[in-house]
Amino acid sequence: MAYENIDQLYINGARRPGSTGETREVIHPATGKPVATFSEATSDDTIAAIAAARAAFDNGHWRSFGTEQRSKILNQIADILTRDKDLFAEAESRDTAKRIIEAEYDMDDIISVFRHFANEVLKPHVREVNTGREGVRSRITVEPVGVVGMITPWNYPLLQASWKIAPAIAAGCTFVIKPSELTPSTTSMLMDVMTEAGLPDGVANAVFGAGATAGAPLSTHPDIDMVSFTGGLTTGKHIMANAAQTVKKVALELGGKNPNIIFADADLDVAIDNALTAVFLHSGQVCSAGTRLLVERSVHDQVVDEISRRADQIVLGGSHDEHAQTGALISAGHRDKVEAFVNAGIAEGAVLRAGGTRPTEPELRDGFFFRPTVLDNCNTTMSCVQDESFGPIVTVEVFDTEEQAVALGNDTIFGLAGAVWTSDDDKAQRVAGALRHGTIWINDYHPYVAQAEWGGFKQSGVGRELGEAGFAEYLEHKHIWQNLNPARSDWFPEGPK
Ligand code: NAD
Repeated sequence: MAYENIDQLYINGARRPGSTGETREVIHPATGKPVATFSEATSDDTIAAIAAARAAFDNGHWRSFGTEQRSKILNQIADILTRDKDLFAEAESRDTAKRIIEAEYDMDDIISVFRHFANEVLKPHVREVNTGREGVRSRITVEPVGVVGMITPWNYPLLQASWKIAPAIAAGCTFVIKPSELTPSTTSMLMDVMTEAGLPDGVANAVFGAGATAGAPLSTHPDIDMVSFTGGLTTGKHIMANAAQTVKKVALELGGKNPNIIFADADLDVAIDNALTAVFLHSGQVCSAGTRLLVERSVHDQVVDEISRRADQIVLGGSHDEHAQTGALISAGHRDKVEAFVNAGIAEGAVLRAGGTRPTEPELRDGFFFRPTVLDNCNTTMSCVQDESFGPIVTVEVFDTEEQAVALGNDTIFGLAGAVWTSDDDKAQRVAGALRHGTIWINDYHPYVAQAEWGGFKQSGVGRELGEAGFAEYLEHKHIWQNLNPARSDWFPEGPK
């Protein structure tokens, strides 16, 4: 598979440039240099893609594909991605500046997502209902929700796309996806995989470009039945409001301000080491990053001294730099925001213990790098504790009791993820139960599997991805009631003729 013309839109099984001929450069974040030029879709191009997806859903032979055929297609997609893993990993690391090894790990996860939904679709999904009545058959069947609009962010471009595309195909939906304008390559390549795997034309469509133009019809157009969005809170609210006009089904995966709680009785060496991974993985550009470190007072100095020392040692570099431990931020604009976030935190009273600046090494000068940063002496009234930076910044707060740790961990509008480190299992279970976040790790941070649900409480989102619930999002449930002995109801008794 050559992956030709991936810089063009993919509509109804064919590549085409945007209708105005406009293009947009993709910039390599580690070098600041352009690496690709993609066609820019107008909202009319996106509406054309929606029409193709609508026709494929309403009139195409896709609706005749049974669960076994859909499962087979998903497994074929996984096979092709396994074959072409290196090509995809290379493209992903070029768009995002993540290390090649991280892009390879992402590919393993993406393949497992397609395999998971290939299995999930084969489970029985029809339920007989016990009505307690004679002469009645009542059953619940499932059907695809219809045409899905998908909008994805730049931090895990293909992974986030796979969490939506795999269940949508499993359910029998059709879709139009718009990846982030900063990282379109791998989503576009995936469209060629769809063709090779035997997906009928019009089932999968991809448009590229700005959210406000190329993306907007995905939440406003009446022919979209559901919009599934991963990205920032402000955009998510906008999409939800748009979707309300035609009462679309909405799934939102938004941000997080995730508490990572270290009790004094934890194995501190392990907890500290993992606290670094929790927040500085992919330079903090992870929705579930452990950005709020909550430390029991008696071990605060030991924990913060060590985390600050280790943060200063983290080596920044390009995707193929063997010594690099993490990469650049996604764009110059994003780095400006991260820098302003740190300065605002210091102005509010946070104490800078590590980082806080751009690196000075000449080889990093052209990329959008920022040093891993530790802000101590923080509290929940500060914006650096409450707002998402989406950069390599950890804020430190102290607590004295278990109740205080839980209260602090829940003192956020978000509810995506959190972790607790302790050697007391009763305490671990109590805290895990009391934290109002969608994923809780006990003595661990970050692992997830396709078989387990992912998503947020509170303003971290609506609905779930992955697991069983992540499949159900793409299904409509239909109740079929059958009277086996039809008879007159005589609710309205007949009068004289
Ligand atoms: P963003 O909200 O700026 O953009 C996300 C996507 O929305 C992009 O494709 C963008 O083009 C599009 N968009 C923007 N305005 C739009 C509009 N008016 N209509 C339609 N589409 C529009 O977010 P981002 O900066 O790309 O990503 C970072 C955010 O994503 C962070 O807040 C992060 O927490 C969140 N995120 C959440 C998860 C999760 O699983 N909860 C995963 C990854 C990222």
